[in-house]
Amino acid sequence: MALTGLEIFKLLPKTNCKKCGMPTCLAFAMQLAQKRAKLEDCPEVSEEAKQALAAAAAPPMRKVVFGSGDNQVEIGQETVMFRHEEKFYSPTVVAVTVSDKLTGEDLKKRIEVVNSLQFERVGTKIGVSAVAVVNDSGDANSFASVAETVKAASSLAMILVSDEPSAMEAAVGKVKDVVPLIASAKADTAAEMAKIAKENGCPLAAKAESLEALSDLTEKIKAEGVEDIVLSLEGLGLREQLYNLSRMRALSLKKAFRPLGHPTISFVSDGDANQQAAMAAALICKYSGIVVLDAAEPYALLPLLTVVMNIFTDPQKPVQVEPKVYPIGEPGENAPLMFTTNFSLTYYTVESDVEASRVPSYILVVDTEGTSVLTAYSGDKLNEKTVADAMAKHNVEGLVKHRKLIIPGYVAVMSGKLEEASKWEVMVGPRESSMLPKYLQEVWK
Ligand code: SF4
Repeated sequence: MALTGLEIFKLLPKTNCKKCGMPTCLAFAMQLAQKRAKLEDCPEVSEEAKQALAAAAAPPMRKVVFGSGDNQVEIGQETVMFRHEEKFYSPTVVAVTVSDKLTGEDLKKRIEVVNSLQFERVGTKIGVSAVAVVNDSGDANSFASVAETVKAASSLAMILVSDEPSAMEAAVGKVKDVVPLIASAKADTAAEMAKIAKENGCPLAAKAESLEALSDLTEKIKAEGVEDIVLSLEGLGLREQLYNLSRMRALSLKKAFRPLGHPTISFVSDGDANQQAAMAAALICKYSGIVVLDAAEPYALLPLLTVVMNIFTDPQKPVQVEPKVYPIGEPGENAPLMFTTNFSLTYYTVESDVEASRVPSYILVVDTEGTSVLTAYSGDKLNEKTVADAMAKHNVEGLVKHRKLIIPGYVAVMSGKLEEASKWEVMVGPRESSMLPKYLQEVWK
């Protein structure tokens, strides 16, 4: 269990030297207890006290890393129950299965399908980040062979799924250089699976039907020398899974209960692709660090990855695009020039409507700290000065021969002052960007 602020204080030097940046040792102890300070910030702490304090300084949920190179993934290290309290840190890893019953062309095609599950949404690349090789055959040689084939054909992080230690040992032996997640150890295989994980430097999933059994299992695995553990609940319906995942999160974060202070993995295989995506979305919202699906249909995966993208953005920092001039099509010196804000959703809505107009254009994106047009205008982040400054900074004069700027209809009120500040003629565009195609085709001409 974590130490309280007063318990930590008793272990500190109590000299109030301020080297940690805090006015007193007590203030530092309180910050450390709330995980807002790091033990290394106190250079005076004794070696003896360090060990006792390490438990208090450790994050309540351990970070677990698997995969290699650019496709290494991280899960865990979350600090809050609810996104609005701070933010969620490690986006859920979405994985898709490859069965070891597949051979030849079927295997090749399945791996290609999994590799292709990459998308772009509002300028951000999102996609499946792991492939789960499943020992459906029950045969160690098939498992090892398919794992090796997947390693050669996919750069995604790998999860090896088998309850059988001999099959796991054979497969890990073929792919240990890509650091797969081993899934899973159960109560009766904990020692053997932990040995494989330890010898090959891989993280290990622990699987049980209840939180009590999982707690015992993680302690058993730690006693074997493996600390990078992922928790897996087996044999439960969706409702029970969500309930227990929430309890695990609360126990690890609120009570600093170390046996459950690990990220989680959930498997979804029932139902069609849409049902799997719906279940996986619920599991992502309620704290699954990894979701593994059998479904590989893009129409099911894209919304699921969008859920991950939305939940794991910082709620205090809107998704933004870079403030600059974006050419749409191949605009020439007579092309229309308009501006919008750098709130990602606003920009991409405008961009797609301009594209739909088929009128090659320039869009000047003004930095409004990621707020939409009306919000930015109300907060004085969008005014004649910010727009004129952006025009100068991005040298719009050098792009077009005319001196006409189309502004969003919602900020028509700034047109007079903007004309004075920029010396350009201001044309008031439509309020809704959906009207831009008609405006560009009829009014701009
Ligand atoms: Fe106390 Fe250590 Fe901070 Fe000095 S650096 S005030 S000893 S906690």
